[in-house]
Amino acid sequence: MGMVIEVIPVGPLAVNCSVVADDRTGKAIVIDPGADAQKIIEVAKEFEVIGVLNTHGHIDHVGQVKTVKEYFNVPFYLHKEDLYLIEDEIWEGFSRYIGAVPCPPPDEYLEEGMEISVGDLKLRVLHTPGHTPGLCCFYIEDENILIAGDLLFKGSIGRTDLPGGNPEEMKASLKRVFTELPDETIVICGHYEETTIGHERKFNPYLHGGLV
Ligand SMILES: [Zn+2]
Ligand SMILES: [Zn+2]
Repeated sequence: MGMVIEVIPVGPLAVNCSVVADDRTGKAIVIDPGADAQKIIEVAKEFEVIGVLNTHGHIDHVGQVKTVKEYFNVPFYLHKEDLYLIEDEIWEGFSRYIGAVPCPPPDEYLEEGMEISVGDLKLRVLHTPGHTPGLCCFYIEDENILIAGDLLFKGSIGRTDLPGGNPEEMKASLKRVFTELPDETIVICGHYEETTIGHERKFNPYLHGGLV
């Protein structure tokens, strides 16, 4: 009994797509299917996929939502405040480069405090804007895991100079996460290596700059 998590780096920017599954029931959810749909589907089809969740609406994270959602015939979840990012073609050339397909509208809106059940697992939605207005983290408290999207990276934080970025909101969101979550929380970041809340609390230079 417990959780299975497969983190699959996808596309040229190595976006971390996570397949989070509940061992007992075999139910799973796909988070941030940004590229390489076939690679994601190969991993995810071992489970009973019940939904696609996105941390935020940037094209490198939503580029294959359509393919994965349609393959498994499941609902897609995104925060309402990131709708404009998937509706407007902001990065047309880039989207061709990563082979993104247009993102369908969400079937459900993510909201602060919402709990998504995947079999016995519970993913709590933390709305943590700053990188984008609708950025949400998914917190699996029983397993000490935070899927953080582009809020936080090992030794760095998410950019606030891309469309939708807001440095003040970023500061408040980081403060919240470092206040609410215990040090042992493993953080699956939007790109690159995982880290922990405790490690970042000690070593992240952006946090020592008085941000939190
Ligand atoms: Zn992003
Ligand atoms: Zn990203």
